[in-house]
Amino acid sequence: MTDHFERGPARTAHAGVLLASAGDRGVLCDFYDEDGSDTYRDLIQDSDGTLETREFAARVPGDPGPVLELAAGMGRLTFPFLELGWDMTALELSATVVAAFRKRLAETPPDLRERCTVVQGDMSAFALDKRFGTAVISSGSINELDEADRKGLYASVREHLEPGGKFLLSLELTKPVEAEPTERQQELPGRSGTRYVLHVKILPSEELQEITIYPADEAADPFVVCTHRRRLVTVDRIVQELGRAGFDVTAQAPFASTSAGREDMVLVEAVVREVTAAAK
Ligand code: SAM
Repeated sequence: MTDHFERGPARTAHAGVLLASAGDRGVLCDFYDEDGSDTYRDLIQDSDGTLETREFAARVPGDPGPVLELAAGMGRLTFPFLELGWDMTALELSATVVAAFRKRLAETPPDLRERCTVVQGDMSAFALDKRFGTAVISSGSINELDEADRKGLYASVREHLEPGGKFLLSLELTKPVEAEPTERQQELPGRSGTRYVLHVKILPSEELQEITIYPADEAADPFVVCTHRRRLVTVDRIVQELGRAGFDVTAQAPFASTSAGREDMVLVEAVVREVTAAAK
């Protein structure tokens, strides 16, 4: 895949305006690169993954077997999975994010730490010398991949599942693109007390979402502008793609990922389709 970390941060139109007015104070970075990592940690690392974790766990009521988490980030879900007693392999592309994950893991009690392996790798093309009872991917992560890379993801997951193993995906319940406003922004508090502005612009023709995150305090120095581009992809499309990639989708369970209670995500469960003798 083309690695957006190697290409560098996207200079979104909104970032361009902000950086022009910040002058020398301005720093442009990707949300998942080194300069963006403080903002990522402040906003996301400890954000509550409890309800999402619970939905995954409900799909594997017995022993999930070894669990592979794709695009694990800084472990928002990995650490709660470890608390459940699961054996985790956490795969993540960004070197900066992997380093932060490893640091966090080093500070974790040994009984959890010893059940977690961290791998820097590309979820669209990986080869691990191991099979898994369950593969999981959290909300927002599949949006990192374009269609060709999603094909690579499905093929890699198939190669790594034990017979009867489950592929579990939590996906955002997005509205069709036309129904979205093209631009919106909101203020968000970080764990440190810093307030940030999240600006989102939908580019329907490119099936992309441009995200720009920056301090609400216009005088901040440095004025760190984090950008990121994500694909817009609906649950129906992922379900169709899974079918074409040789999976049977066995459940689609909508759920609320926040205490607000509005169903905003769906947990998709898929298993590798058995090839019958007649079909061979
Ligand atoms: N799962 C984490 C969570 O729930 O907080 C992180 C989700 S975040 C939306 C997406 C993550 O995918 C980022 O950490 C990013 O670095 C990672 N990522 C992007 N492309 C990737 C790829 N091709 N392979 C593995 N990880 C990737």
